[in-house]
Amino acid sequence: YKNHPDDYFEDVEKTYIDPKNPFVEEFQVLAMACDRPISKHELKEHQEIIEHHIIKENLKIFNNRIVPNFDKINSMLNEYSIRGIGKSIDIFLSDRKVGDRVLPIALEELHKDAIYFLAGIRYRVKEFDYPKKNLAKLEKISRDYPYYTKSLTEEWPTIETVFEKRVANGVEVAFCKLHIQKKVYGYVNIELGQEITQGEKVMLDTPLEYDFITKGIVFHAPRPIKVIEKAEDEDYAEASGYHATEHVVIEGSNMITGGVSQDLGGISLGTSGLIFIYDGAIGGSGASKALYDRFEKALERSMHIVKECPCKNESGCPRCTFSYRCGNNNEFLHKYSALEILERINKGEKTELIDPTEGDRPLV
Ligand SMILES: [Zn+2]
Ligand SMILES: [Zn+2]
Repeated sequence: YKNHPDDYFEDVEKTYIDPKNPFVEEFQVLAMACDRPISKHELKEHQEIIEHHIIKENLKIFNNRIVPNFDKINSMLNEYSIRGIGKSIDIFLSDRKVGDRVLPIALEELHKDAIYFLAGIRYRVKEFDYPKKNLAKLEKISRDYPYYTKSLTEEWPTIETVFEKRVANGVEVAFCKLHIQKKVYGYVNIELGQEITQGEKVMLDTPLEYDFITKGIVFHAPRPIKVIEKAEDEDYAEASGYHATEHVVIEGSNMITGGVSQDLGGISLGTSGLIFIYDGAIGGSGASKALYDRFEKALERSMHIVKECPCKNESGCPRCTFSYRCGNNNEFLHKYSALEILERINKGEKTELIDPTEGDRPLV
């Protein structure tokens, strides 16, 4: 916005939702039945879930209408949180429950020794019990403790179903149901108030694992051939270009779609050029669909962010390629490689989606 202030007044913040999130739908249908019996021919779009509930005896048929089986669903509905769907971690401070956080984001924020922000105060996680008890115990730290933590993660995506496909500029992009395997294996200490988003690494004794279903997009970025030819380490320059592109597209999408970037995760698969951007909430939140619908604009904005950043570092800087959400300590980033990739995309270079191969190292 510093370089293009007019954009600030023209960008429209769009709201996004995902009415087809299957995990939310499951509870919504129960709540609907509690509100008023469902007649047999209504809610065709939710038929599958209704049948699932009838088999599980959560709903029953009474006088040709579908009514709730309160004996079975009361406890289910009582445990339901309107703040997020799925399992969560309970947070304790001196034996009192002070909050909860949904998975999978809880693994990144509440692993042992993580610095956790609660009501504006920083605490350290002294104990994290997962996946058995699903709880975290906090302890106080001194106010002048100089660090916060950022987790180190590894992720692997699998495409389950392709919902839609199209060509944006020349790049083939698909909107899909994704299975994400996530592993938190360590963290870095980052000094407070520092613009630098890199720190000293600490490995966890046992990595934390979680896998979930969500929705997201995948596209195949073109190869940054000119940068590769000049590079000493070709694979590094190529993979780091895709990783930086993934960061910039997520951050750049914020302005186009109305603040989705905090709801998105990203994975670039080694030197394959495949880049996945997915909803961080299980089942999908509509964020990646908002990006899919305005993908050309996000790609154009991303190119300008990299091109117009005055930094001269090969890896870039927090204003262009670095991300606060990076699970790789903002390593493996190459600004000029990303610029070539984004310029090729915006010039209309054609690519087609390919299948991921096991050997590609995922960067998140
Ligand atoms: Zn920069
Ligand atoms: Zn990253």
